Amino acid sequence: MSVVIIGYQQKINSLSSYPEIADDFLSLEISIFALHSQNVMFVEDAYGRGLRDLRISVTDRCNFRCRYCMPIEKFGSEYQFLPREELLSFEEILRLVRVAVPLGVSKIRLTGGEPLLRRGLEDLVAMLATVEGITDLAMTTNGTLLAHHAEALALAGLSRVTVSLDALNPELFARMNGVGAKVERVLAGIHAAQTFGLPVKINAVIQRGVNESEILPLAFWALENQIDLRYIEYMDVGESNGWAMQHVVPGAEILDLLEREFALKPRTAAYRGEVAVHWAHKGKKPELGLIQAVTQPFCGDCQRLRLSADGHFFTCLFASHGHDLRGLIRSGSDDDVLEKALSGIWQARRDRYSEERGKHSQKKAEMSYLGG
Ligand code: SF4
Repeated sequence: MSVVIIGYQQKINSLSSYPEIADDFLSLEISIFALHSQNVMFVEDAYGRGLRDLRISVTDRCNFRCRYCMPIEKFGSEYQFLPREELLSFEEILRLVRVAVPLGVSKIRLTGGEPLLRRGLEDLVAMLATVEGITDLAMTTNGTLLAHHAEALALAGLSRVTVSLDALNPELFARMNGVGAKVERVLAGIHAAQTFGLPVKINAVIQRGVNESEILPLAFWALENQIDLRYIEYMDVGESNGWAMQHVVPGAEILDLLEREFALKPRTAAYRGEVAVHWAHKGKKPELGLIQAVTQPFCGDCQRLRLSADGHFFTCLFASHGHDLRGLIRSGSDDDVLEKALSGIWQARRDRYSEERGKHSQKKAEMSYLGG
């Protein structure tokens, strides 16, 4: 066995100072033993952050036109989406995942665009589910096509699904998604996922003057249906959504509203880098969470890497450009070259956009392209 773990001993030494992350390191130790036959080299970036989560965008297309992500003025009928031949094939995605695992990746999330628009996504899930070292294989979807795919996804080995749901009110939901899609279809998708044994979480982006009225109805619905719900502060992703600070409903305000209705108890983070802070009503499931990316940035623990549908690695959701590994793959580079390139990208990483919000002037890539 040959195991090299950069920075691991230093973290174990300081573990006693952080009892709340002890479980995380216990599972890390177990993972290390599970990787007994592999060469393992966990990498760290310039600020000592490991690489753990890989979010893979499988398409830049979406069947919604939510204003905060793909406003119709920019993403109309004239918009040039990536041509088919520029998308990574499933085999190319699998190869990059296999290169990323020895560097530390253990969690995969499939995103888009809307990932269920990519034909045969279940086949990709089945391929990724076979990769040793991946302990969590999740997907984020708008849910409109989920009812049709839930059974096949569960059978293929998907671990769980996160559904974006910003409103339950049918008129408001139809207005917010920009295409008049019905909320009933999303609810049917959630129900199908549960029926086939896929754990479901809900993400709701809350915007001032748009869907604050949905904060409590969503919480009551989540409690009734035993589904974890996370409220996300509206973020300045991309260059198209016209974001301004006054459009943000701070997490503290959402929590204040919730606490007037529910007897909430906080829980400590389940693992280092967990982005949401969670509460449970009377200490029971389901959980209500807040992702306070604007008012309480969590860059210090950010272990997420994004892979765009055309094979560019982005080290931050707010990055202006990615690093092209598709070119390396298609020019015949072997896995050693890919691994060196990827570890070099991560080791050079200095991103902490949310902690420095307002200090950057470079244009950001669009979230629908680099993956949410
Ligand atoms: S702003 Fe970038 S570095 Fe900070 S948490 Fe978000 S993705 Fe991570």
